[in-house]
Amino acid sequence: MLATVTQTSFKNPYEVALENFDLAANALDLDENIRAMIKCPERILQVSVPVRMDTGKIVRFEGYRVQHSTTRGPAKGGIRFHPNVTLDEVKALATWMTWKCAVVNIPFGGAKGGVTCNPKRMSMGELERLSRRYATSILPLIGPEKDIPAPDVYTTPQIMAWIMDTFSMNKGYPVMGVVTGKPISLGGSLGRHEATGRGCYYTVLSSCQHLGIPVKGARVAVQGFGNAGSIAANLFHAAEAVVIAASDSTVAIYNRAGLDIPKLIAHKERTGSLRGFPDAEVIPAEALLLLDCEILVPAALENAITEENAHSVRARIVAEAANGPVTPEADRILDQKGVFLIPDILCNAGGVTVSYFEWVQDENHLFWDEQDVNSRLERVMVRAFNDVLKIHLDRKVSMRLAANMLGVSRVAEANRIRGLYP
Ligand code: NAD
Repeated sequence: MLATVTQTSFKNPYEVALENFDLAANALDLDENIRAMIKCPERILQVSVPVRMDTGKIVRFEGYRVQHSTTRGPAKGGIRFHPNVTLDEVKALATWMTWKCAVVNIPFGGAKGGVTCNPKRMSMGELERLSRRYATSILPLIGPEKDIPAPDVYTTPQIMAWIMDTFSMNKGYPVMGVVTGKPISLGGSLGRHEATGRGCYYTVLSSCQHLGIPVKGARVAVQGFGNAGSIAANLFHAAEAVVIAASDSTVAIYNRAGLDIPKLIAHKERTGSLRGFPDAEVIPAEALLLLDCEILVPAALENAITEENAHSVRARIVAEAANGPVTPEADRILDQKGVFLIPDILCNAGGVTVSYFEWVQDENHLFWDEQDVNSRLERVMVRAFNDVLKIHLDRKVSMRLAANMLGVSRVAEANRIRGLYP
């Protein structure tokens, strides 16, 4: 059902990324020369990924790796396997990674990768051959000191393990730090799997504190019940918030008294979808975004809230666990309505923050316990939230613009100090 909303009001995500950059650069009165240097991707690789399917037939998939910036450190960003992946989407996601790493102040630039494919229709063998062939194709670009991939939509710790193994086989020795989001047994970090949802949760706690909304009893609706959405939902549930609705790509479900999230997670693990969960009624997918609630968490894909439905959003807080779920037109509408938006480059930055911790642990061959990871994550997220909130309040700009101003100004400053290669 959401597909209908997405199709009728589709906005090219790269145009959104450029528009938001221009708004931030204008608000910062940024020098034109610096704009010219930091706005667009530094490097774009498009690859052809031939895969032998189980039938014996060879199918060719399109793949991409985009490095938007290496100004503040090695490029960093996830890999998406999804039927709707396009080069412009990957460029947008890489651009957002640059500002995101700067907002949480970790020493990385921004990158993203993707393959246009439908992993739900592929066997494990086909997925492994696709992942290894794609890894080989982007091999010249990646490495712990150059560009470090991670999971994103429909990519998993297992896929990261195959990429790490393919890279290592080519080098002739194990290179743990080439990807993050790996299984724990292969140099992954404790807490990485939960980090995006946990980081989102910390920013919502800070927002509730700022707005005087008690978390206990707050009604929460979560669109997208994957890594980011399900873990955030579980933390809200544990904090005695009431998660009244959740959705995945097949169904949206609702229970006014609250869904039992641990049971819902077990149901999804067992059946592969939210469909058929007892004690909940099925609602239209687009209705979830318009529910009367305190906290709305879009945790699926881009273009969920557009100028077509933003007027009808009734949440007090919109926490962008997904990348790019709210278009710039919808931003303006939500802002006028007084909705408090936690922008994606802040709200979902917990994932890349713990990816950074994983990379540090791999490079040092010294691993931290989970409590250590989580308390460091909390410190980073709360500090970043307060940095963005300060700009929002001091400059009287939206939280989106405040976050973009913070990210862009840090990259601009690093660029200014590094100077221009003649
Ligand atoms: P995932 O593959 O684990 O889960 C995606 C979920 O979205 C699935 O439950 C899927 O069914 C659902 N979904 C897909 N299309 C939908 C639709 N039209 N309506 C409702 N649900 C839909 O992916 P993820 O890692 O949780 O990523 C989700 C979002 O979070 C993406 O925007 C991603 O870029 C962003 N993100 C993820 C991470 C991370 O560490 N995984 C970090 C930062 C940002």
